[in-house]
Amino acid sequence: MDKEYVGFAALHNQLHRKSVKKGFDFTLMVAGESGLGKSTLINSLFLTNLYEDRQVPEASARLTQTLTIERRGVEIEEGGVKVKLTLVDTPGFGDSVDCSDCWLPVVRFIEEQFEQYLRDESGLNRKNIQDSRVHCCLYFISPFGRGLRPLDVAFLRAVHEKVNIIPVIGKADALMPKETQALKQKIRDQLKEEEINIYQFPECDSDEDEDFKRQDAEMKGSIPFAVVGSCEVVRDGGTRPVRGRRYSWGTVEVENPQHCDFLNLRRMLVQTHLQDLKEVTHDLLYEGYRARCLQSLARPGARDRTSRSKLSRQSATEIPLPMLPLAETEKLIREKDEELRRMQEMLEKMQAQMQQSQVQGEQSDAL
Ligand code: GDP
Repeated sequence: MDKEYVGFAALHNQLHRKSVKKGFDFTLMVAGESGLGKSTLINSLFLTNLYEDRQVPEASARLTQTLTIERRGVEIEEGGVKVKLTLVDTPGFGDSVDCSDCWLPVVRFIEEQFEQYLRDESGLNRKNIQDSRVHCCLYFISPFGRGLRPLDVAFLRAVHEKVNIIPVIGKADALMPKETQALKQKIRDQLKEEEINIYQFPECDSDEDEDFKRQDAEMKGSIPFAVVGSCEVVRDGGTRPVRGRRYSWGTVEVENPQHCDFLNLRRMLVQTHLQDLKEVTHDLLYEGYRARCLQSLARPGARDRTSRSKLSRQSATEIPLPMLPLAETEKLIREKDEELRRMQEMLEKMQAQMQQSQVQGEQSDAL
């Protein structure tokens, strides 16, 4: 994974409402059809050229292209706080003629990260776990359609209980403000109808100042964020330089809230909600995965051949539905945790004893 330093301080002054711990790891996934401006937006968000080496395949090659998963790492530092950001890209999403199930590798990837974390957490060295779980997925929706397409719905349904979804409308400069509002409303209605859970913004603290509350309400009201990306700095008629897209009729400014929701998205991602996205991933999404895993293990017959082949025909990624009552599963989790804690204690005792006998040995040698 390439490492690159990005001076985030150059972007704007951050206001850390929630303190971000030192050595913070964050994994951001971008998914959605090719050509919707995903790479450009990521480069605009993090002021870097993360996709320098990217090769865009010809249209003919894309007809048969399969989806791949790519990881890139950047390090962000702001006011002494370091964030190790991993970007997970999904080139090839929706490119091929037959798109049915083309998103399965993404679902598998998200689950593999949970699986790895579960394995590490069940091991003895629980203090140094590398968290590679996907904390957020920016899902790009086309501005040219009439809302969510069947592929969008299928993908979102497959991942909505595994990752925090933040829907965005890419290339929003293709829409007039009225059209943007209509498309946003349509998408919100579809998400509700299809019972797709996207990331739920936490309630704003009542003791926050009015300015912060207003910003928070505005941010929540902008979902799905309509964004424009550009890595070009435009200088119009001697005015201040702005990041934007210049057309013969004028300039679309990326950081102008009148033109798009870029600033709202960036504010929530890097300024206000990074920690909450991580907490929701751990407390809700990962815990859900962990409970389903334990339930499937505890379920009688879950491991026999017939039930396994039947399951994989229905869905390659779904874990069997719980058969044990919740109380019993929780008991099982507690027992497992207790067992691990005891083993950890035993190991620590043995290490202390070894160290002590080593010291005693050294002392008697010295005498
Ligand atoms: P990706 O395949 O989704 O990563 O899309 P890219 O970021 O490579 O963008 C594809 C094309 O769309 C490039 O020519 C970009 O310059 C252009 N593009 C990117 N963002 C925007 C945008 O917000 N508006 C418009 N009109 N074009 C954009």
